Amino acid sequence: MGLRNRGTGKGTKANENLTPPPSPGRGNFKPKTNSPPPSPGGGSYFEHELTMAVTTRTAKLVSNFEYEFGGPVGALLTTILLPVVTVLLTSWASLGRVDLDGVTDPDVLCPGCDEEEGRLTLLRCAAAVVGWFLFQVLLERFLPCEIVEGGVLKGGPNEHGERRLKYRINGHLAFWATLLFVEVGWPSMAQVGQVTRRGPPPRTVLQFGRAPLGLLYDYHAELAVATVVLCVVLSSYLYLRSHYRPGLLLAEGGNSGNPLYDFFMGRELNPRWGSFDWKEFCELRPGLIGWALLNVAMAVKQQEKLGYVTGSMALVNVFQFMYVWDALYQERAILTTMDITTDGFGFMLCFGDLAWVPFTYSLQARYLVDHDPHLGWPALGAVIVTNALGYSIFRGANGQKDAFRRNPSDPKVSHLTYLQTERGTRLLTSGWWGMARKINYTGDWIMGLSWCLLCGAGSIVPYYYAIYFAILLVHRSIRDDHMCQAKYGRDWDEYKRIVPYRFIPGVV
Ligand code: NDP
Repeated sequence: MGLRNRGTGKGTKANENLTPPPSPGRGNFKPKTNSPPPSPGGGSYFEHELTMAVTTRTAKLVSNFEYEFGGPVGALLTTILLPVVTVLLTSWASLGRVDLDGVTDPDVLCPGCDEEEGRLTLLRCAAAVVGWFLFQVLLERFLPCEIVEGGVLKGGPNEHGERRLKYRINGHLAFWATLLFVEVGWPSMAQVGQVTRRGPPPRTVLQFGRAPLGLLYDYHAELAVATVVLCVVLSSYLYLRSHYRPGLLLAEGGNSGNPLYDFFMGRELNPRWGSFDWKEFCELRPGLIGWALLNVAMAVKQQEKLGYVTGSMALVNVFQFMYVWDALYQERAILTTMDITTDGFGFMLCFGDLAWVPFTYSLQARYLVDHDPHLGWPALGAVIVTNALGYSIFRGANGQKDAFRRNPSDPKVSHLTYLQTERGTRLLTSGWWGMARKINYTGDWIMGLSWCLLCGAGSIVPYYYAIYFAILLVHRSIRDDHMCQAKYGRDWDEYKRIVPYRFIPGVV
């Protein structure tokens, strides 16, 4: 299809007809295989893919394999280092400073492991982590939900012949149900009545009330260790399962044949038990909701310790609560992200979702319990402005792309210019996306920086997030750039010529 509208196109009806249905457009890209190029009609690429047998596909992928993350050595080092860093960060946030001695201290790396009572505590924490996970599974299974279809499966139908998967979308409801449960639904046994000579004996009754959230502060490090163990168990199961179930749809990037690398990247694209999707569930529920809950727990603890909640603690809770709420409210948007459409579900995502996000993203709140800088209103005001700036860029850019991809004639976006690609989809070249190719990442990072600023300048520990997130976003932008280059070819070169900056217009 040679009809292309470069640079100045408007969302007219005629142009709309050139665009394939929205869901295959976003998040699906041309794999780095030897497959013949798709004909430019958009849908035919998927038709072509659907005809490939799973075994043939696998063999091709292995022979052309391109490693990421430093290959097997990088994957092994990351698998070992990330859990260590997670546990160290929880310890450093508690101390309020970087303590390099902790790196070799078994009591820091595995708190309580060297004594019987400590090991018992760890077991209880492991039970709590599993209980939390199962509680979220129950919510996912039994709360009302909307059934939404994901994009066309990359690489063809799965072992059940499905071309698209259906997802239960109720994360937002699960979030509020969880908050309601910890506020008024936590069960406990209480004694009612008093011992008197004549009256009835005291009775033990079941009552419901507020959960003892302060315990999440008391056993923060132990819970982190228990979660890491859960992640290792879960990703080992997923890796083994991917070998023993025939005909599974494998992730292109996690099928190198090297066990260490594949364990890290994830072999199976969409591991499921029936309609329960492990990857989509873990991406948003236990970890993300757990992050918000840990923050609330830290505020509860600060209230217990100081008798009040500080401005920084309140704001970090509000900002991060909004971030989590936003992700869950927009749950269906995750179905088109790289994580769902492209990456396998291995240790990288499993650990990232379940351990890294809740325990390290809540580090500012953890730090503030014991090391609050007691910022004055001018400083808090400046942080609010920084956060609002980041939020408007982040939401503005993501919302603009989403609205445009859903309906280019929408009056909110119909004035924007775009590049009509041969692949059929359109790349925005004005508005937020005309300023920089990854301006949404910039907004996200500025928001993250504002969370760190709430902790003052007393320690670098709470700034870990801004540092780590900058590295993640730069790396992710490079990955996405490679993928877009592969799927758009010359169109991507043209887009980069029209929008030369990656993060900050005129700078970088
Ligand atoms: P993007 O939302 O930037 O999506 C990238 C895709 O969008 C590209 O592959 C391409 O796909 C499409 N695209 C690129 N340029 C254009 C354009 N000009 N016009 C229209 N479509 C375009 O990436 P992510 O999914 O990585 O991130 C989504 C959000 O999540 C970001 O704001 C990010 O900051 C945030 N995030 C947060 C993380 C955290 O840990 N807090 C981790 C990762 C992300 P196609 O053309 O095929 O549709």
